[in-house]
Amino acid sequence: MISRTDLRGPALASLDARGLRDALPRAAFDVEAALDAVRPICDEVHHRGADALRELSERFDGVRPTRLRVPAELLASALEQLDPDVRTALETSIERARAVHADQRRTDVTTTLADGGTVTERWVPVDRVGLYVPGGKAPLLSSVVMNVVPAQEAQVPSIAVASPPQRTNTGAFAGYPDPGVLAACALLGVEEVYAVGGAQAIAMFAYGAREADGTTVCEPVSLVTGPGNIYVVAAKRLLKGLIGIDSEAGPTEIAILADDSADPGHVAADLISQAEHDELAAAVLVTDSDALAGAVEEALTAQVAATKHSERIRVSLAGEQSAIVLVDDVEAGLRVVDAYAAEHLEIQTRDASAVAARVRNAGAIFVGPYAPVSLGDYCAGSNHVLPTGGCACHSSGLSVQSFLRGIHVVDYSRDALREVSRAVVTLAEAEDLPAHGQAVTVRFADE
Ligand code: NAD
Repeated sequence: MISRTDLRGPALASLDARGLRDALPRAAFDVEAALDAVRPICDEVHHRGADALRELSERFDGVRPTRLRVPAELLASALEQLDPDVRTALETSIERARAVHADQRRTDVTTTLADGGTVTERWVPVDRVGLYVPGGKAPLLSSVVMNVVPAQEAQVPSIAVASPPQRTNTGAFAGYPDPGVLAACALLGVEEVYAVGGAQAIAMFAYGAREADGTTVCEPVSLVTGPGNIYVVAAKRLLKGLIGIDSEAGPTEIAILADDSADPGHVAADLISQAEHDELAAAVLVTDSDALAGAVEEALTAQVAATKHSERIRVSLAGEQSAIVLVDDVEAGLRVVDAYAAEHLEIQTRDASAVAARVRNAGAIFVGPYAPVSLGDYCAGSNHVLPTGGCACHSSGLSVQSFLRGIHVVDYSRDALREVSRAVVTLAEAEDLPAHGQAVTVRFADE
């Protein structure tokens, strides 16, 4: 069901950083290749606006949106009809996420360089953001929380959400996103919600969209965040620059670094929990224990057979992106997980906190036997929108910071400028840009 990669003995020692990355399991999907598929989709939305959005939904979601923008009354009735237990659980998720994200708020910092010479870093939220909430294989109402809460804590003034219309919806919800997604939006006070999914949603946010008669459907945004499948990730990469994006948060990944102290049943359950997302999801166990590897294989066979989405999980676990990687010891395991840079990394070893403290590359780290990734998916308080595909070596998960820009405000008096003018002129001359220097000296021509 899941393959093994043996990196014990000289196999690991002989690999440099790039060789090690290449030796590790990775999804066969290629965002670059998906760019070819999403380019025409984005062009259609750019040039034909709302008409293109409706046609693309019919093609890719199998349903024509009833209205592209979800009416306010439908948001309200989704919340009214929400199962009370789901509402309570969502409220727990929101409360915990809000506590963590409120602590991420930035304060402006002023540095005094001279008497009358200061630089202030002023943190300003983006004006308008588009948040993507997946809805292809599962309606991720939790992704509403993970996108909206940090945007609200950053005090973004204009927040729009897009999620695919569901072909299985009936009655008043026919042609709209999942009612749970709509209810979560209403619970969080989001009023601007679109029944648009995939690459076309990202293009709508980037270009804005109008009806053929010129009526505005959606104003463009400055930043798009949120997780999604390969097409969503490719569209974010394609349109980056025109819009800002958060990380490339694509098909999910779990890596578990475990020794023989780990419970194989728990390890298997956690691998399965992420494989459940997508056939392209990656599940990787890194261990120095042959006994654990064998026991996890057995537990996987038993548990997968008993779970609801067993077909999707089997494909994910059997894919080349998933494997059990055998290493000599936890030290070697740390080298492997750092090279892999997983979206989610669990540490299930002895002295897990000390091992976790040494990890350098991961989207989020889950420490010890009682911090499964699914806790972080919903209710840990941490954010579940995290970089995938190795991007965790340079990108962070979604946070309040993702929605802010730091603006340097430079405020110098005449005396403060005079104090540093010689250095400015010297550097300008060293760069053969004398006009730069003159812009300073002209201010003191009368001295
Ligand atoms: P999705 O909403 O991301 O994608 C569905 C959309 O894909 C559809 O609306 C459709 O427009 C488009 N699409 C489908 N087939 C297409 C095709 N052949 N060509 C062009 N467009 C096509 O929902 P999903 O598919 O369920 O994927 C959600 C993904 O989000 C999963 O892979 C999951 O692992 C991932 N995820 C990642 C994170 C993270 O932080 N990295 C968090 C949560 C979920």
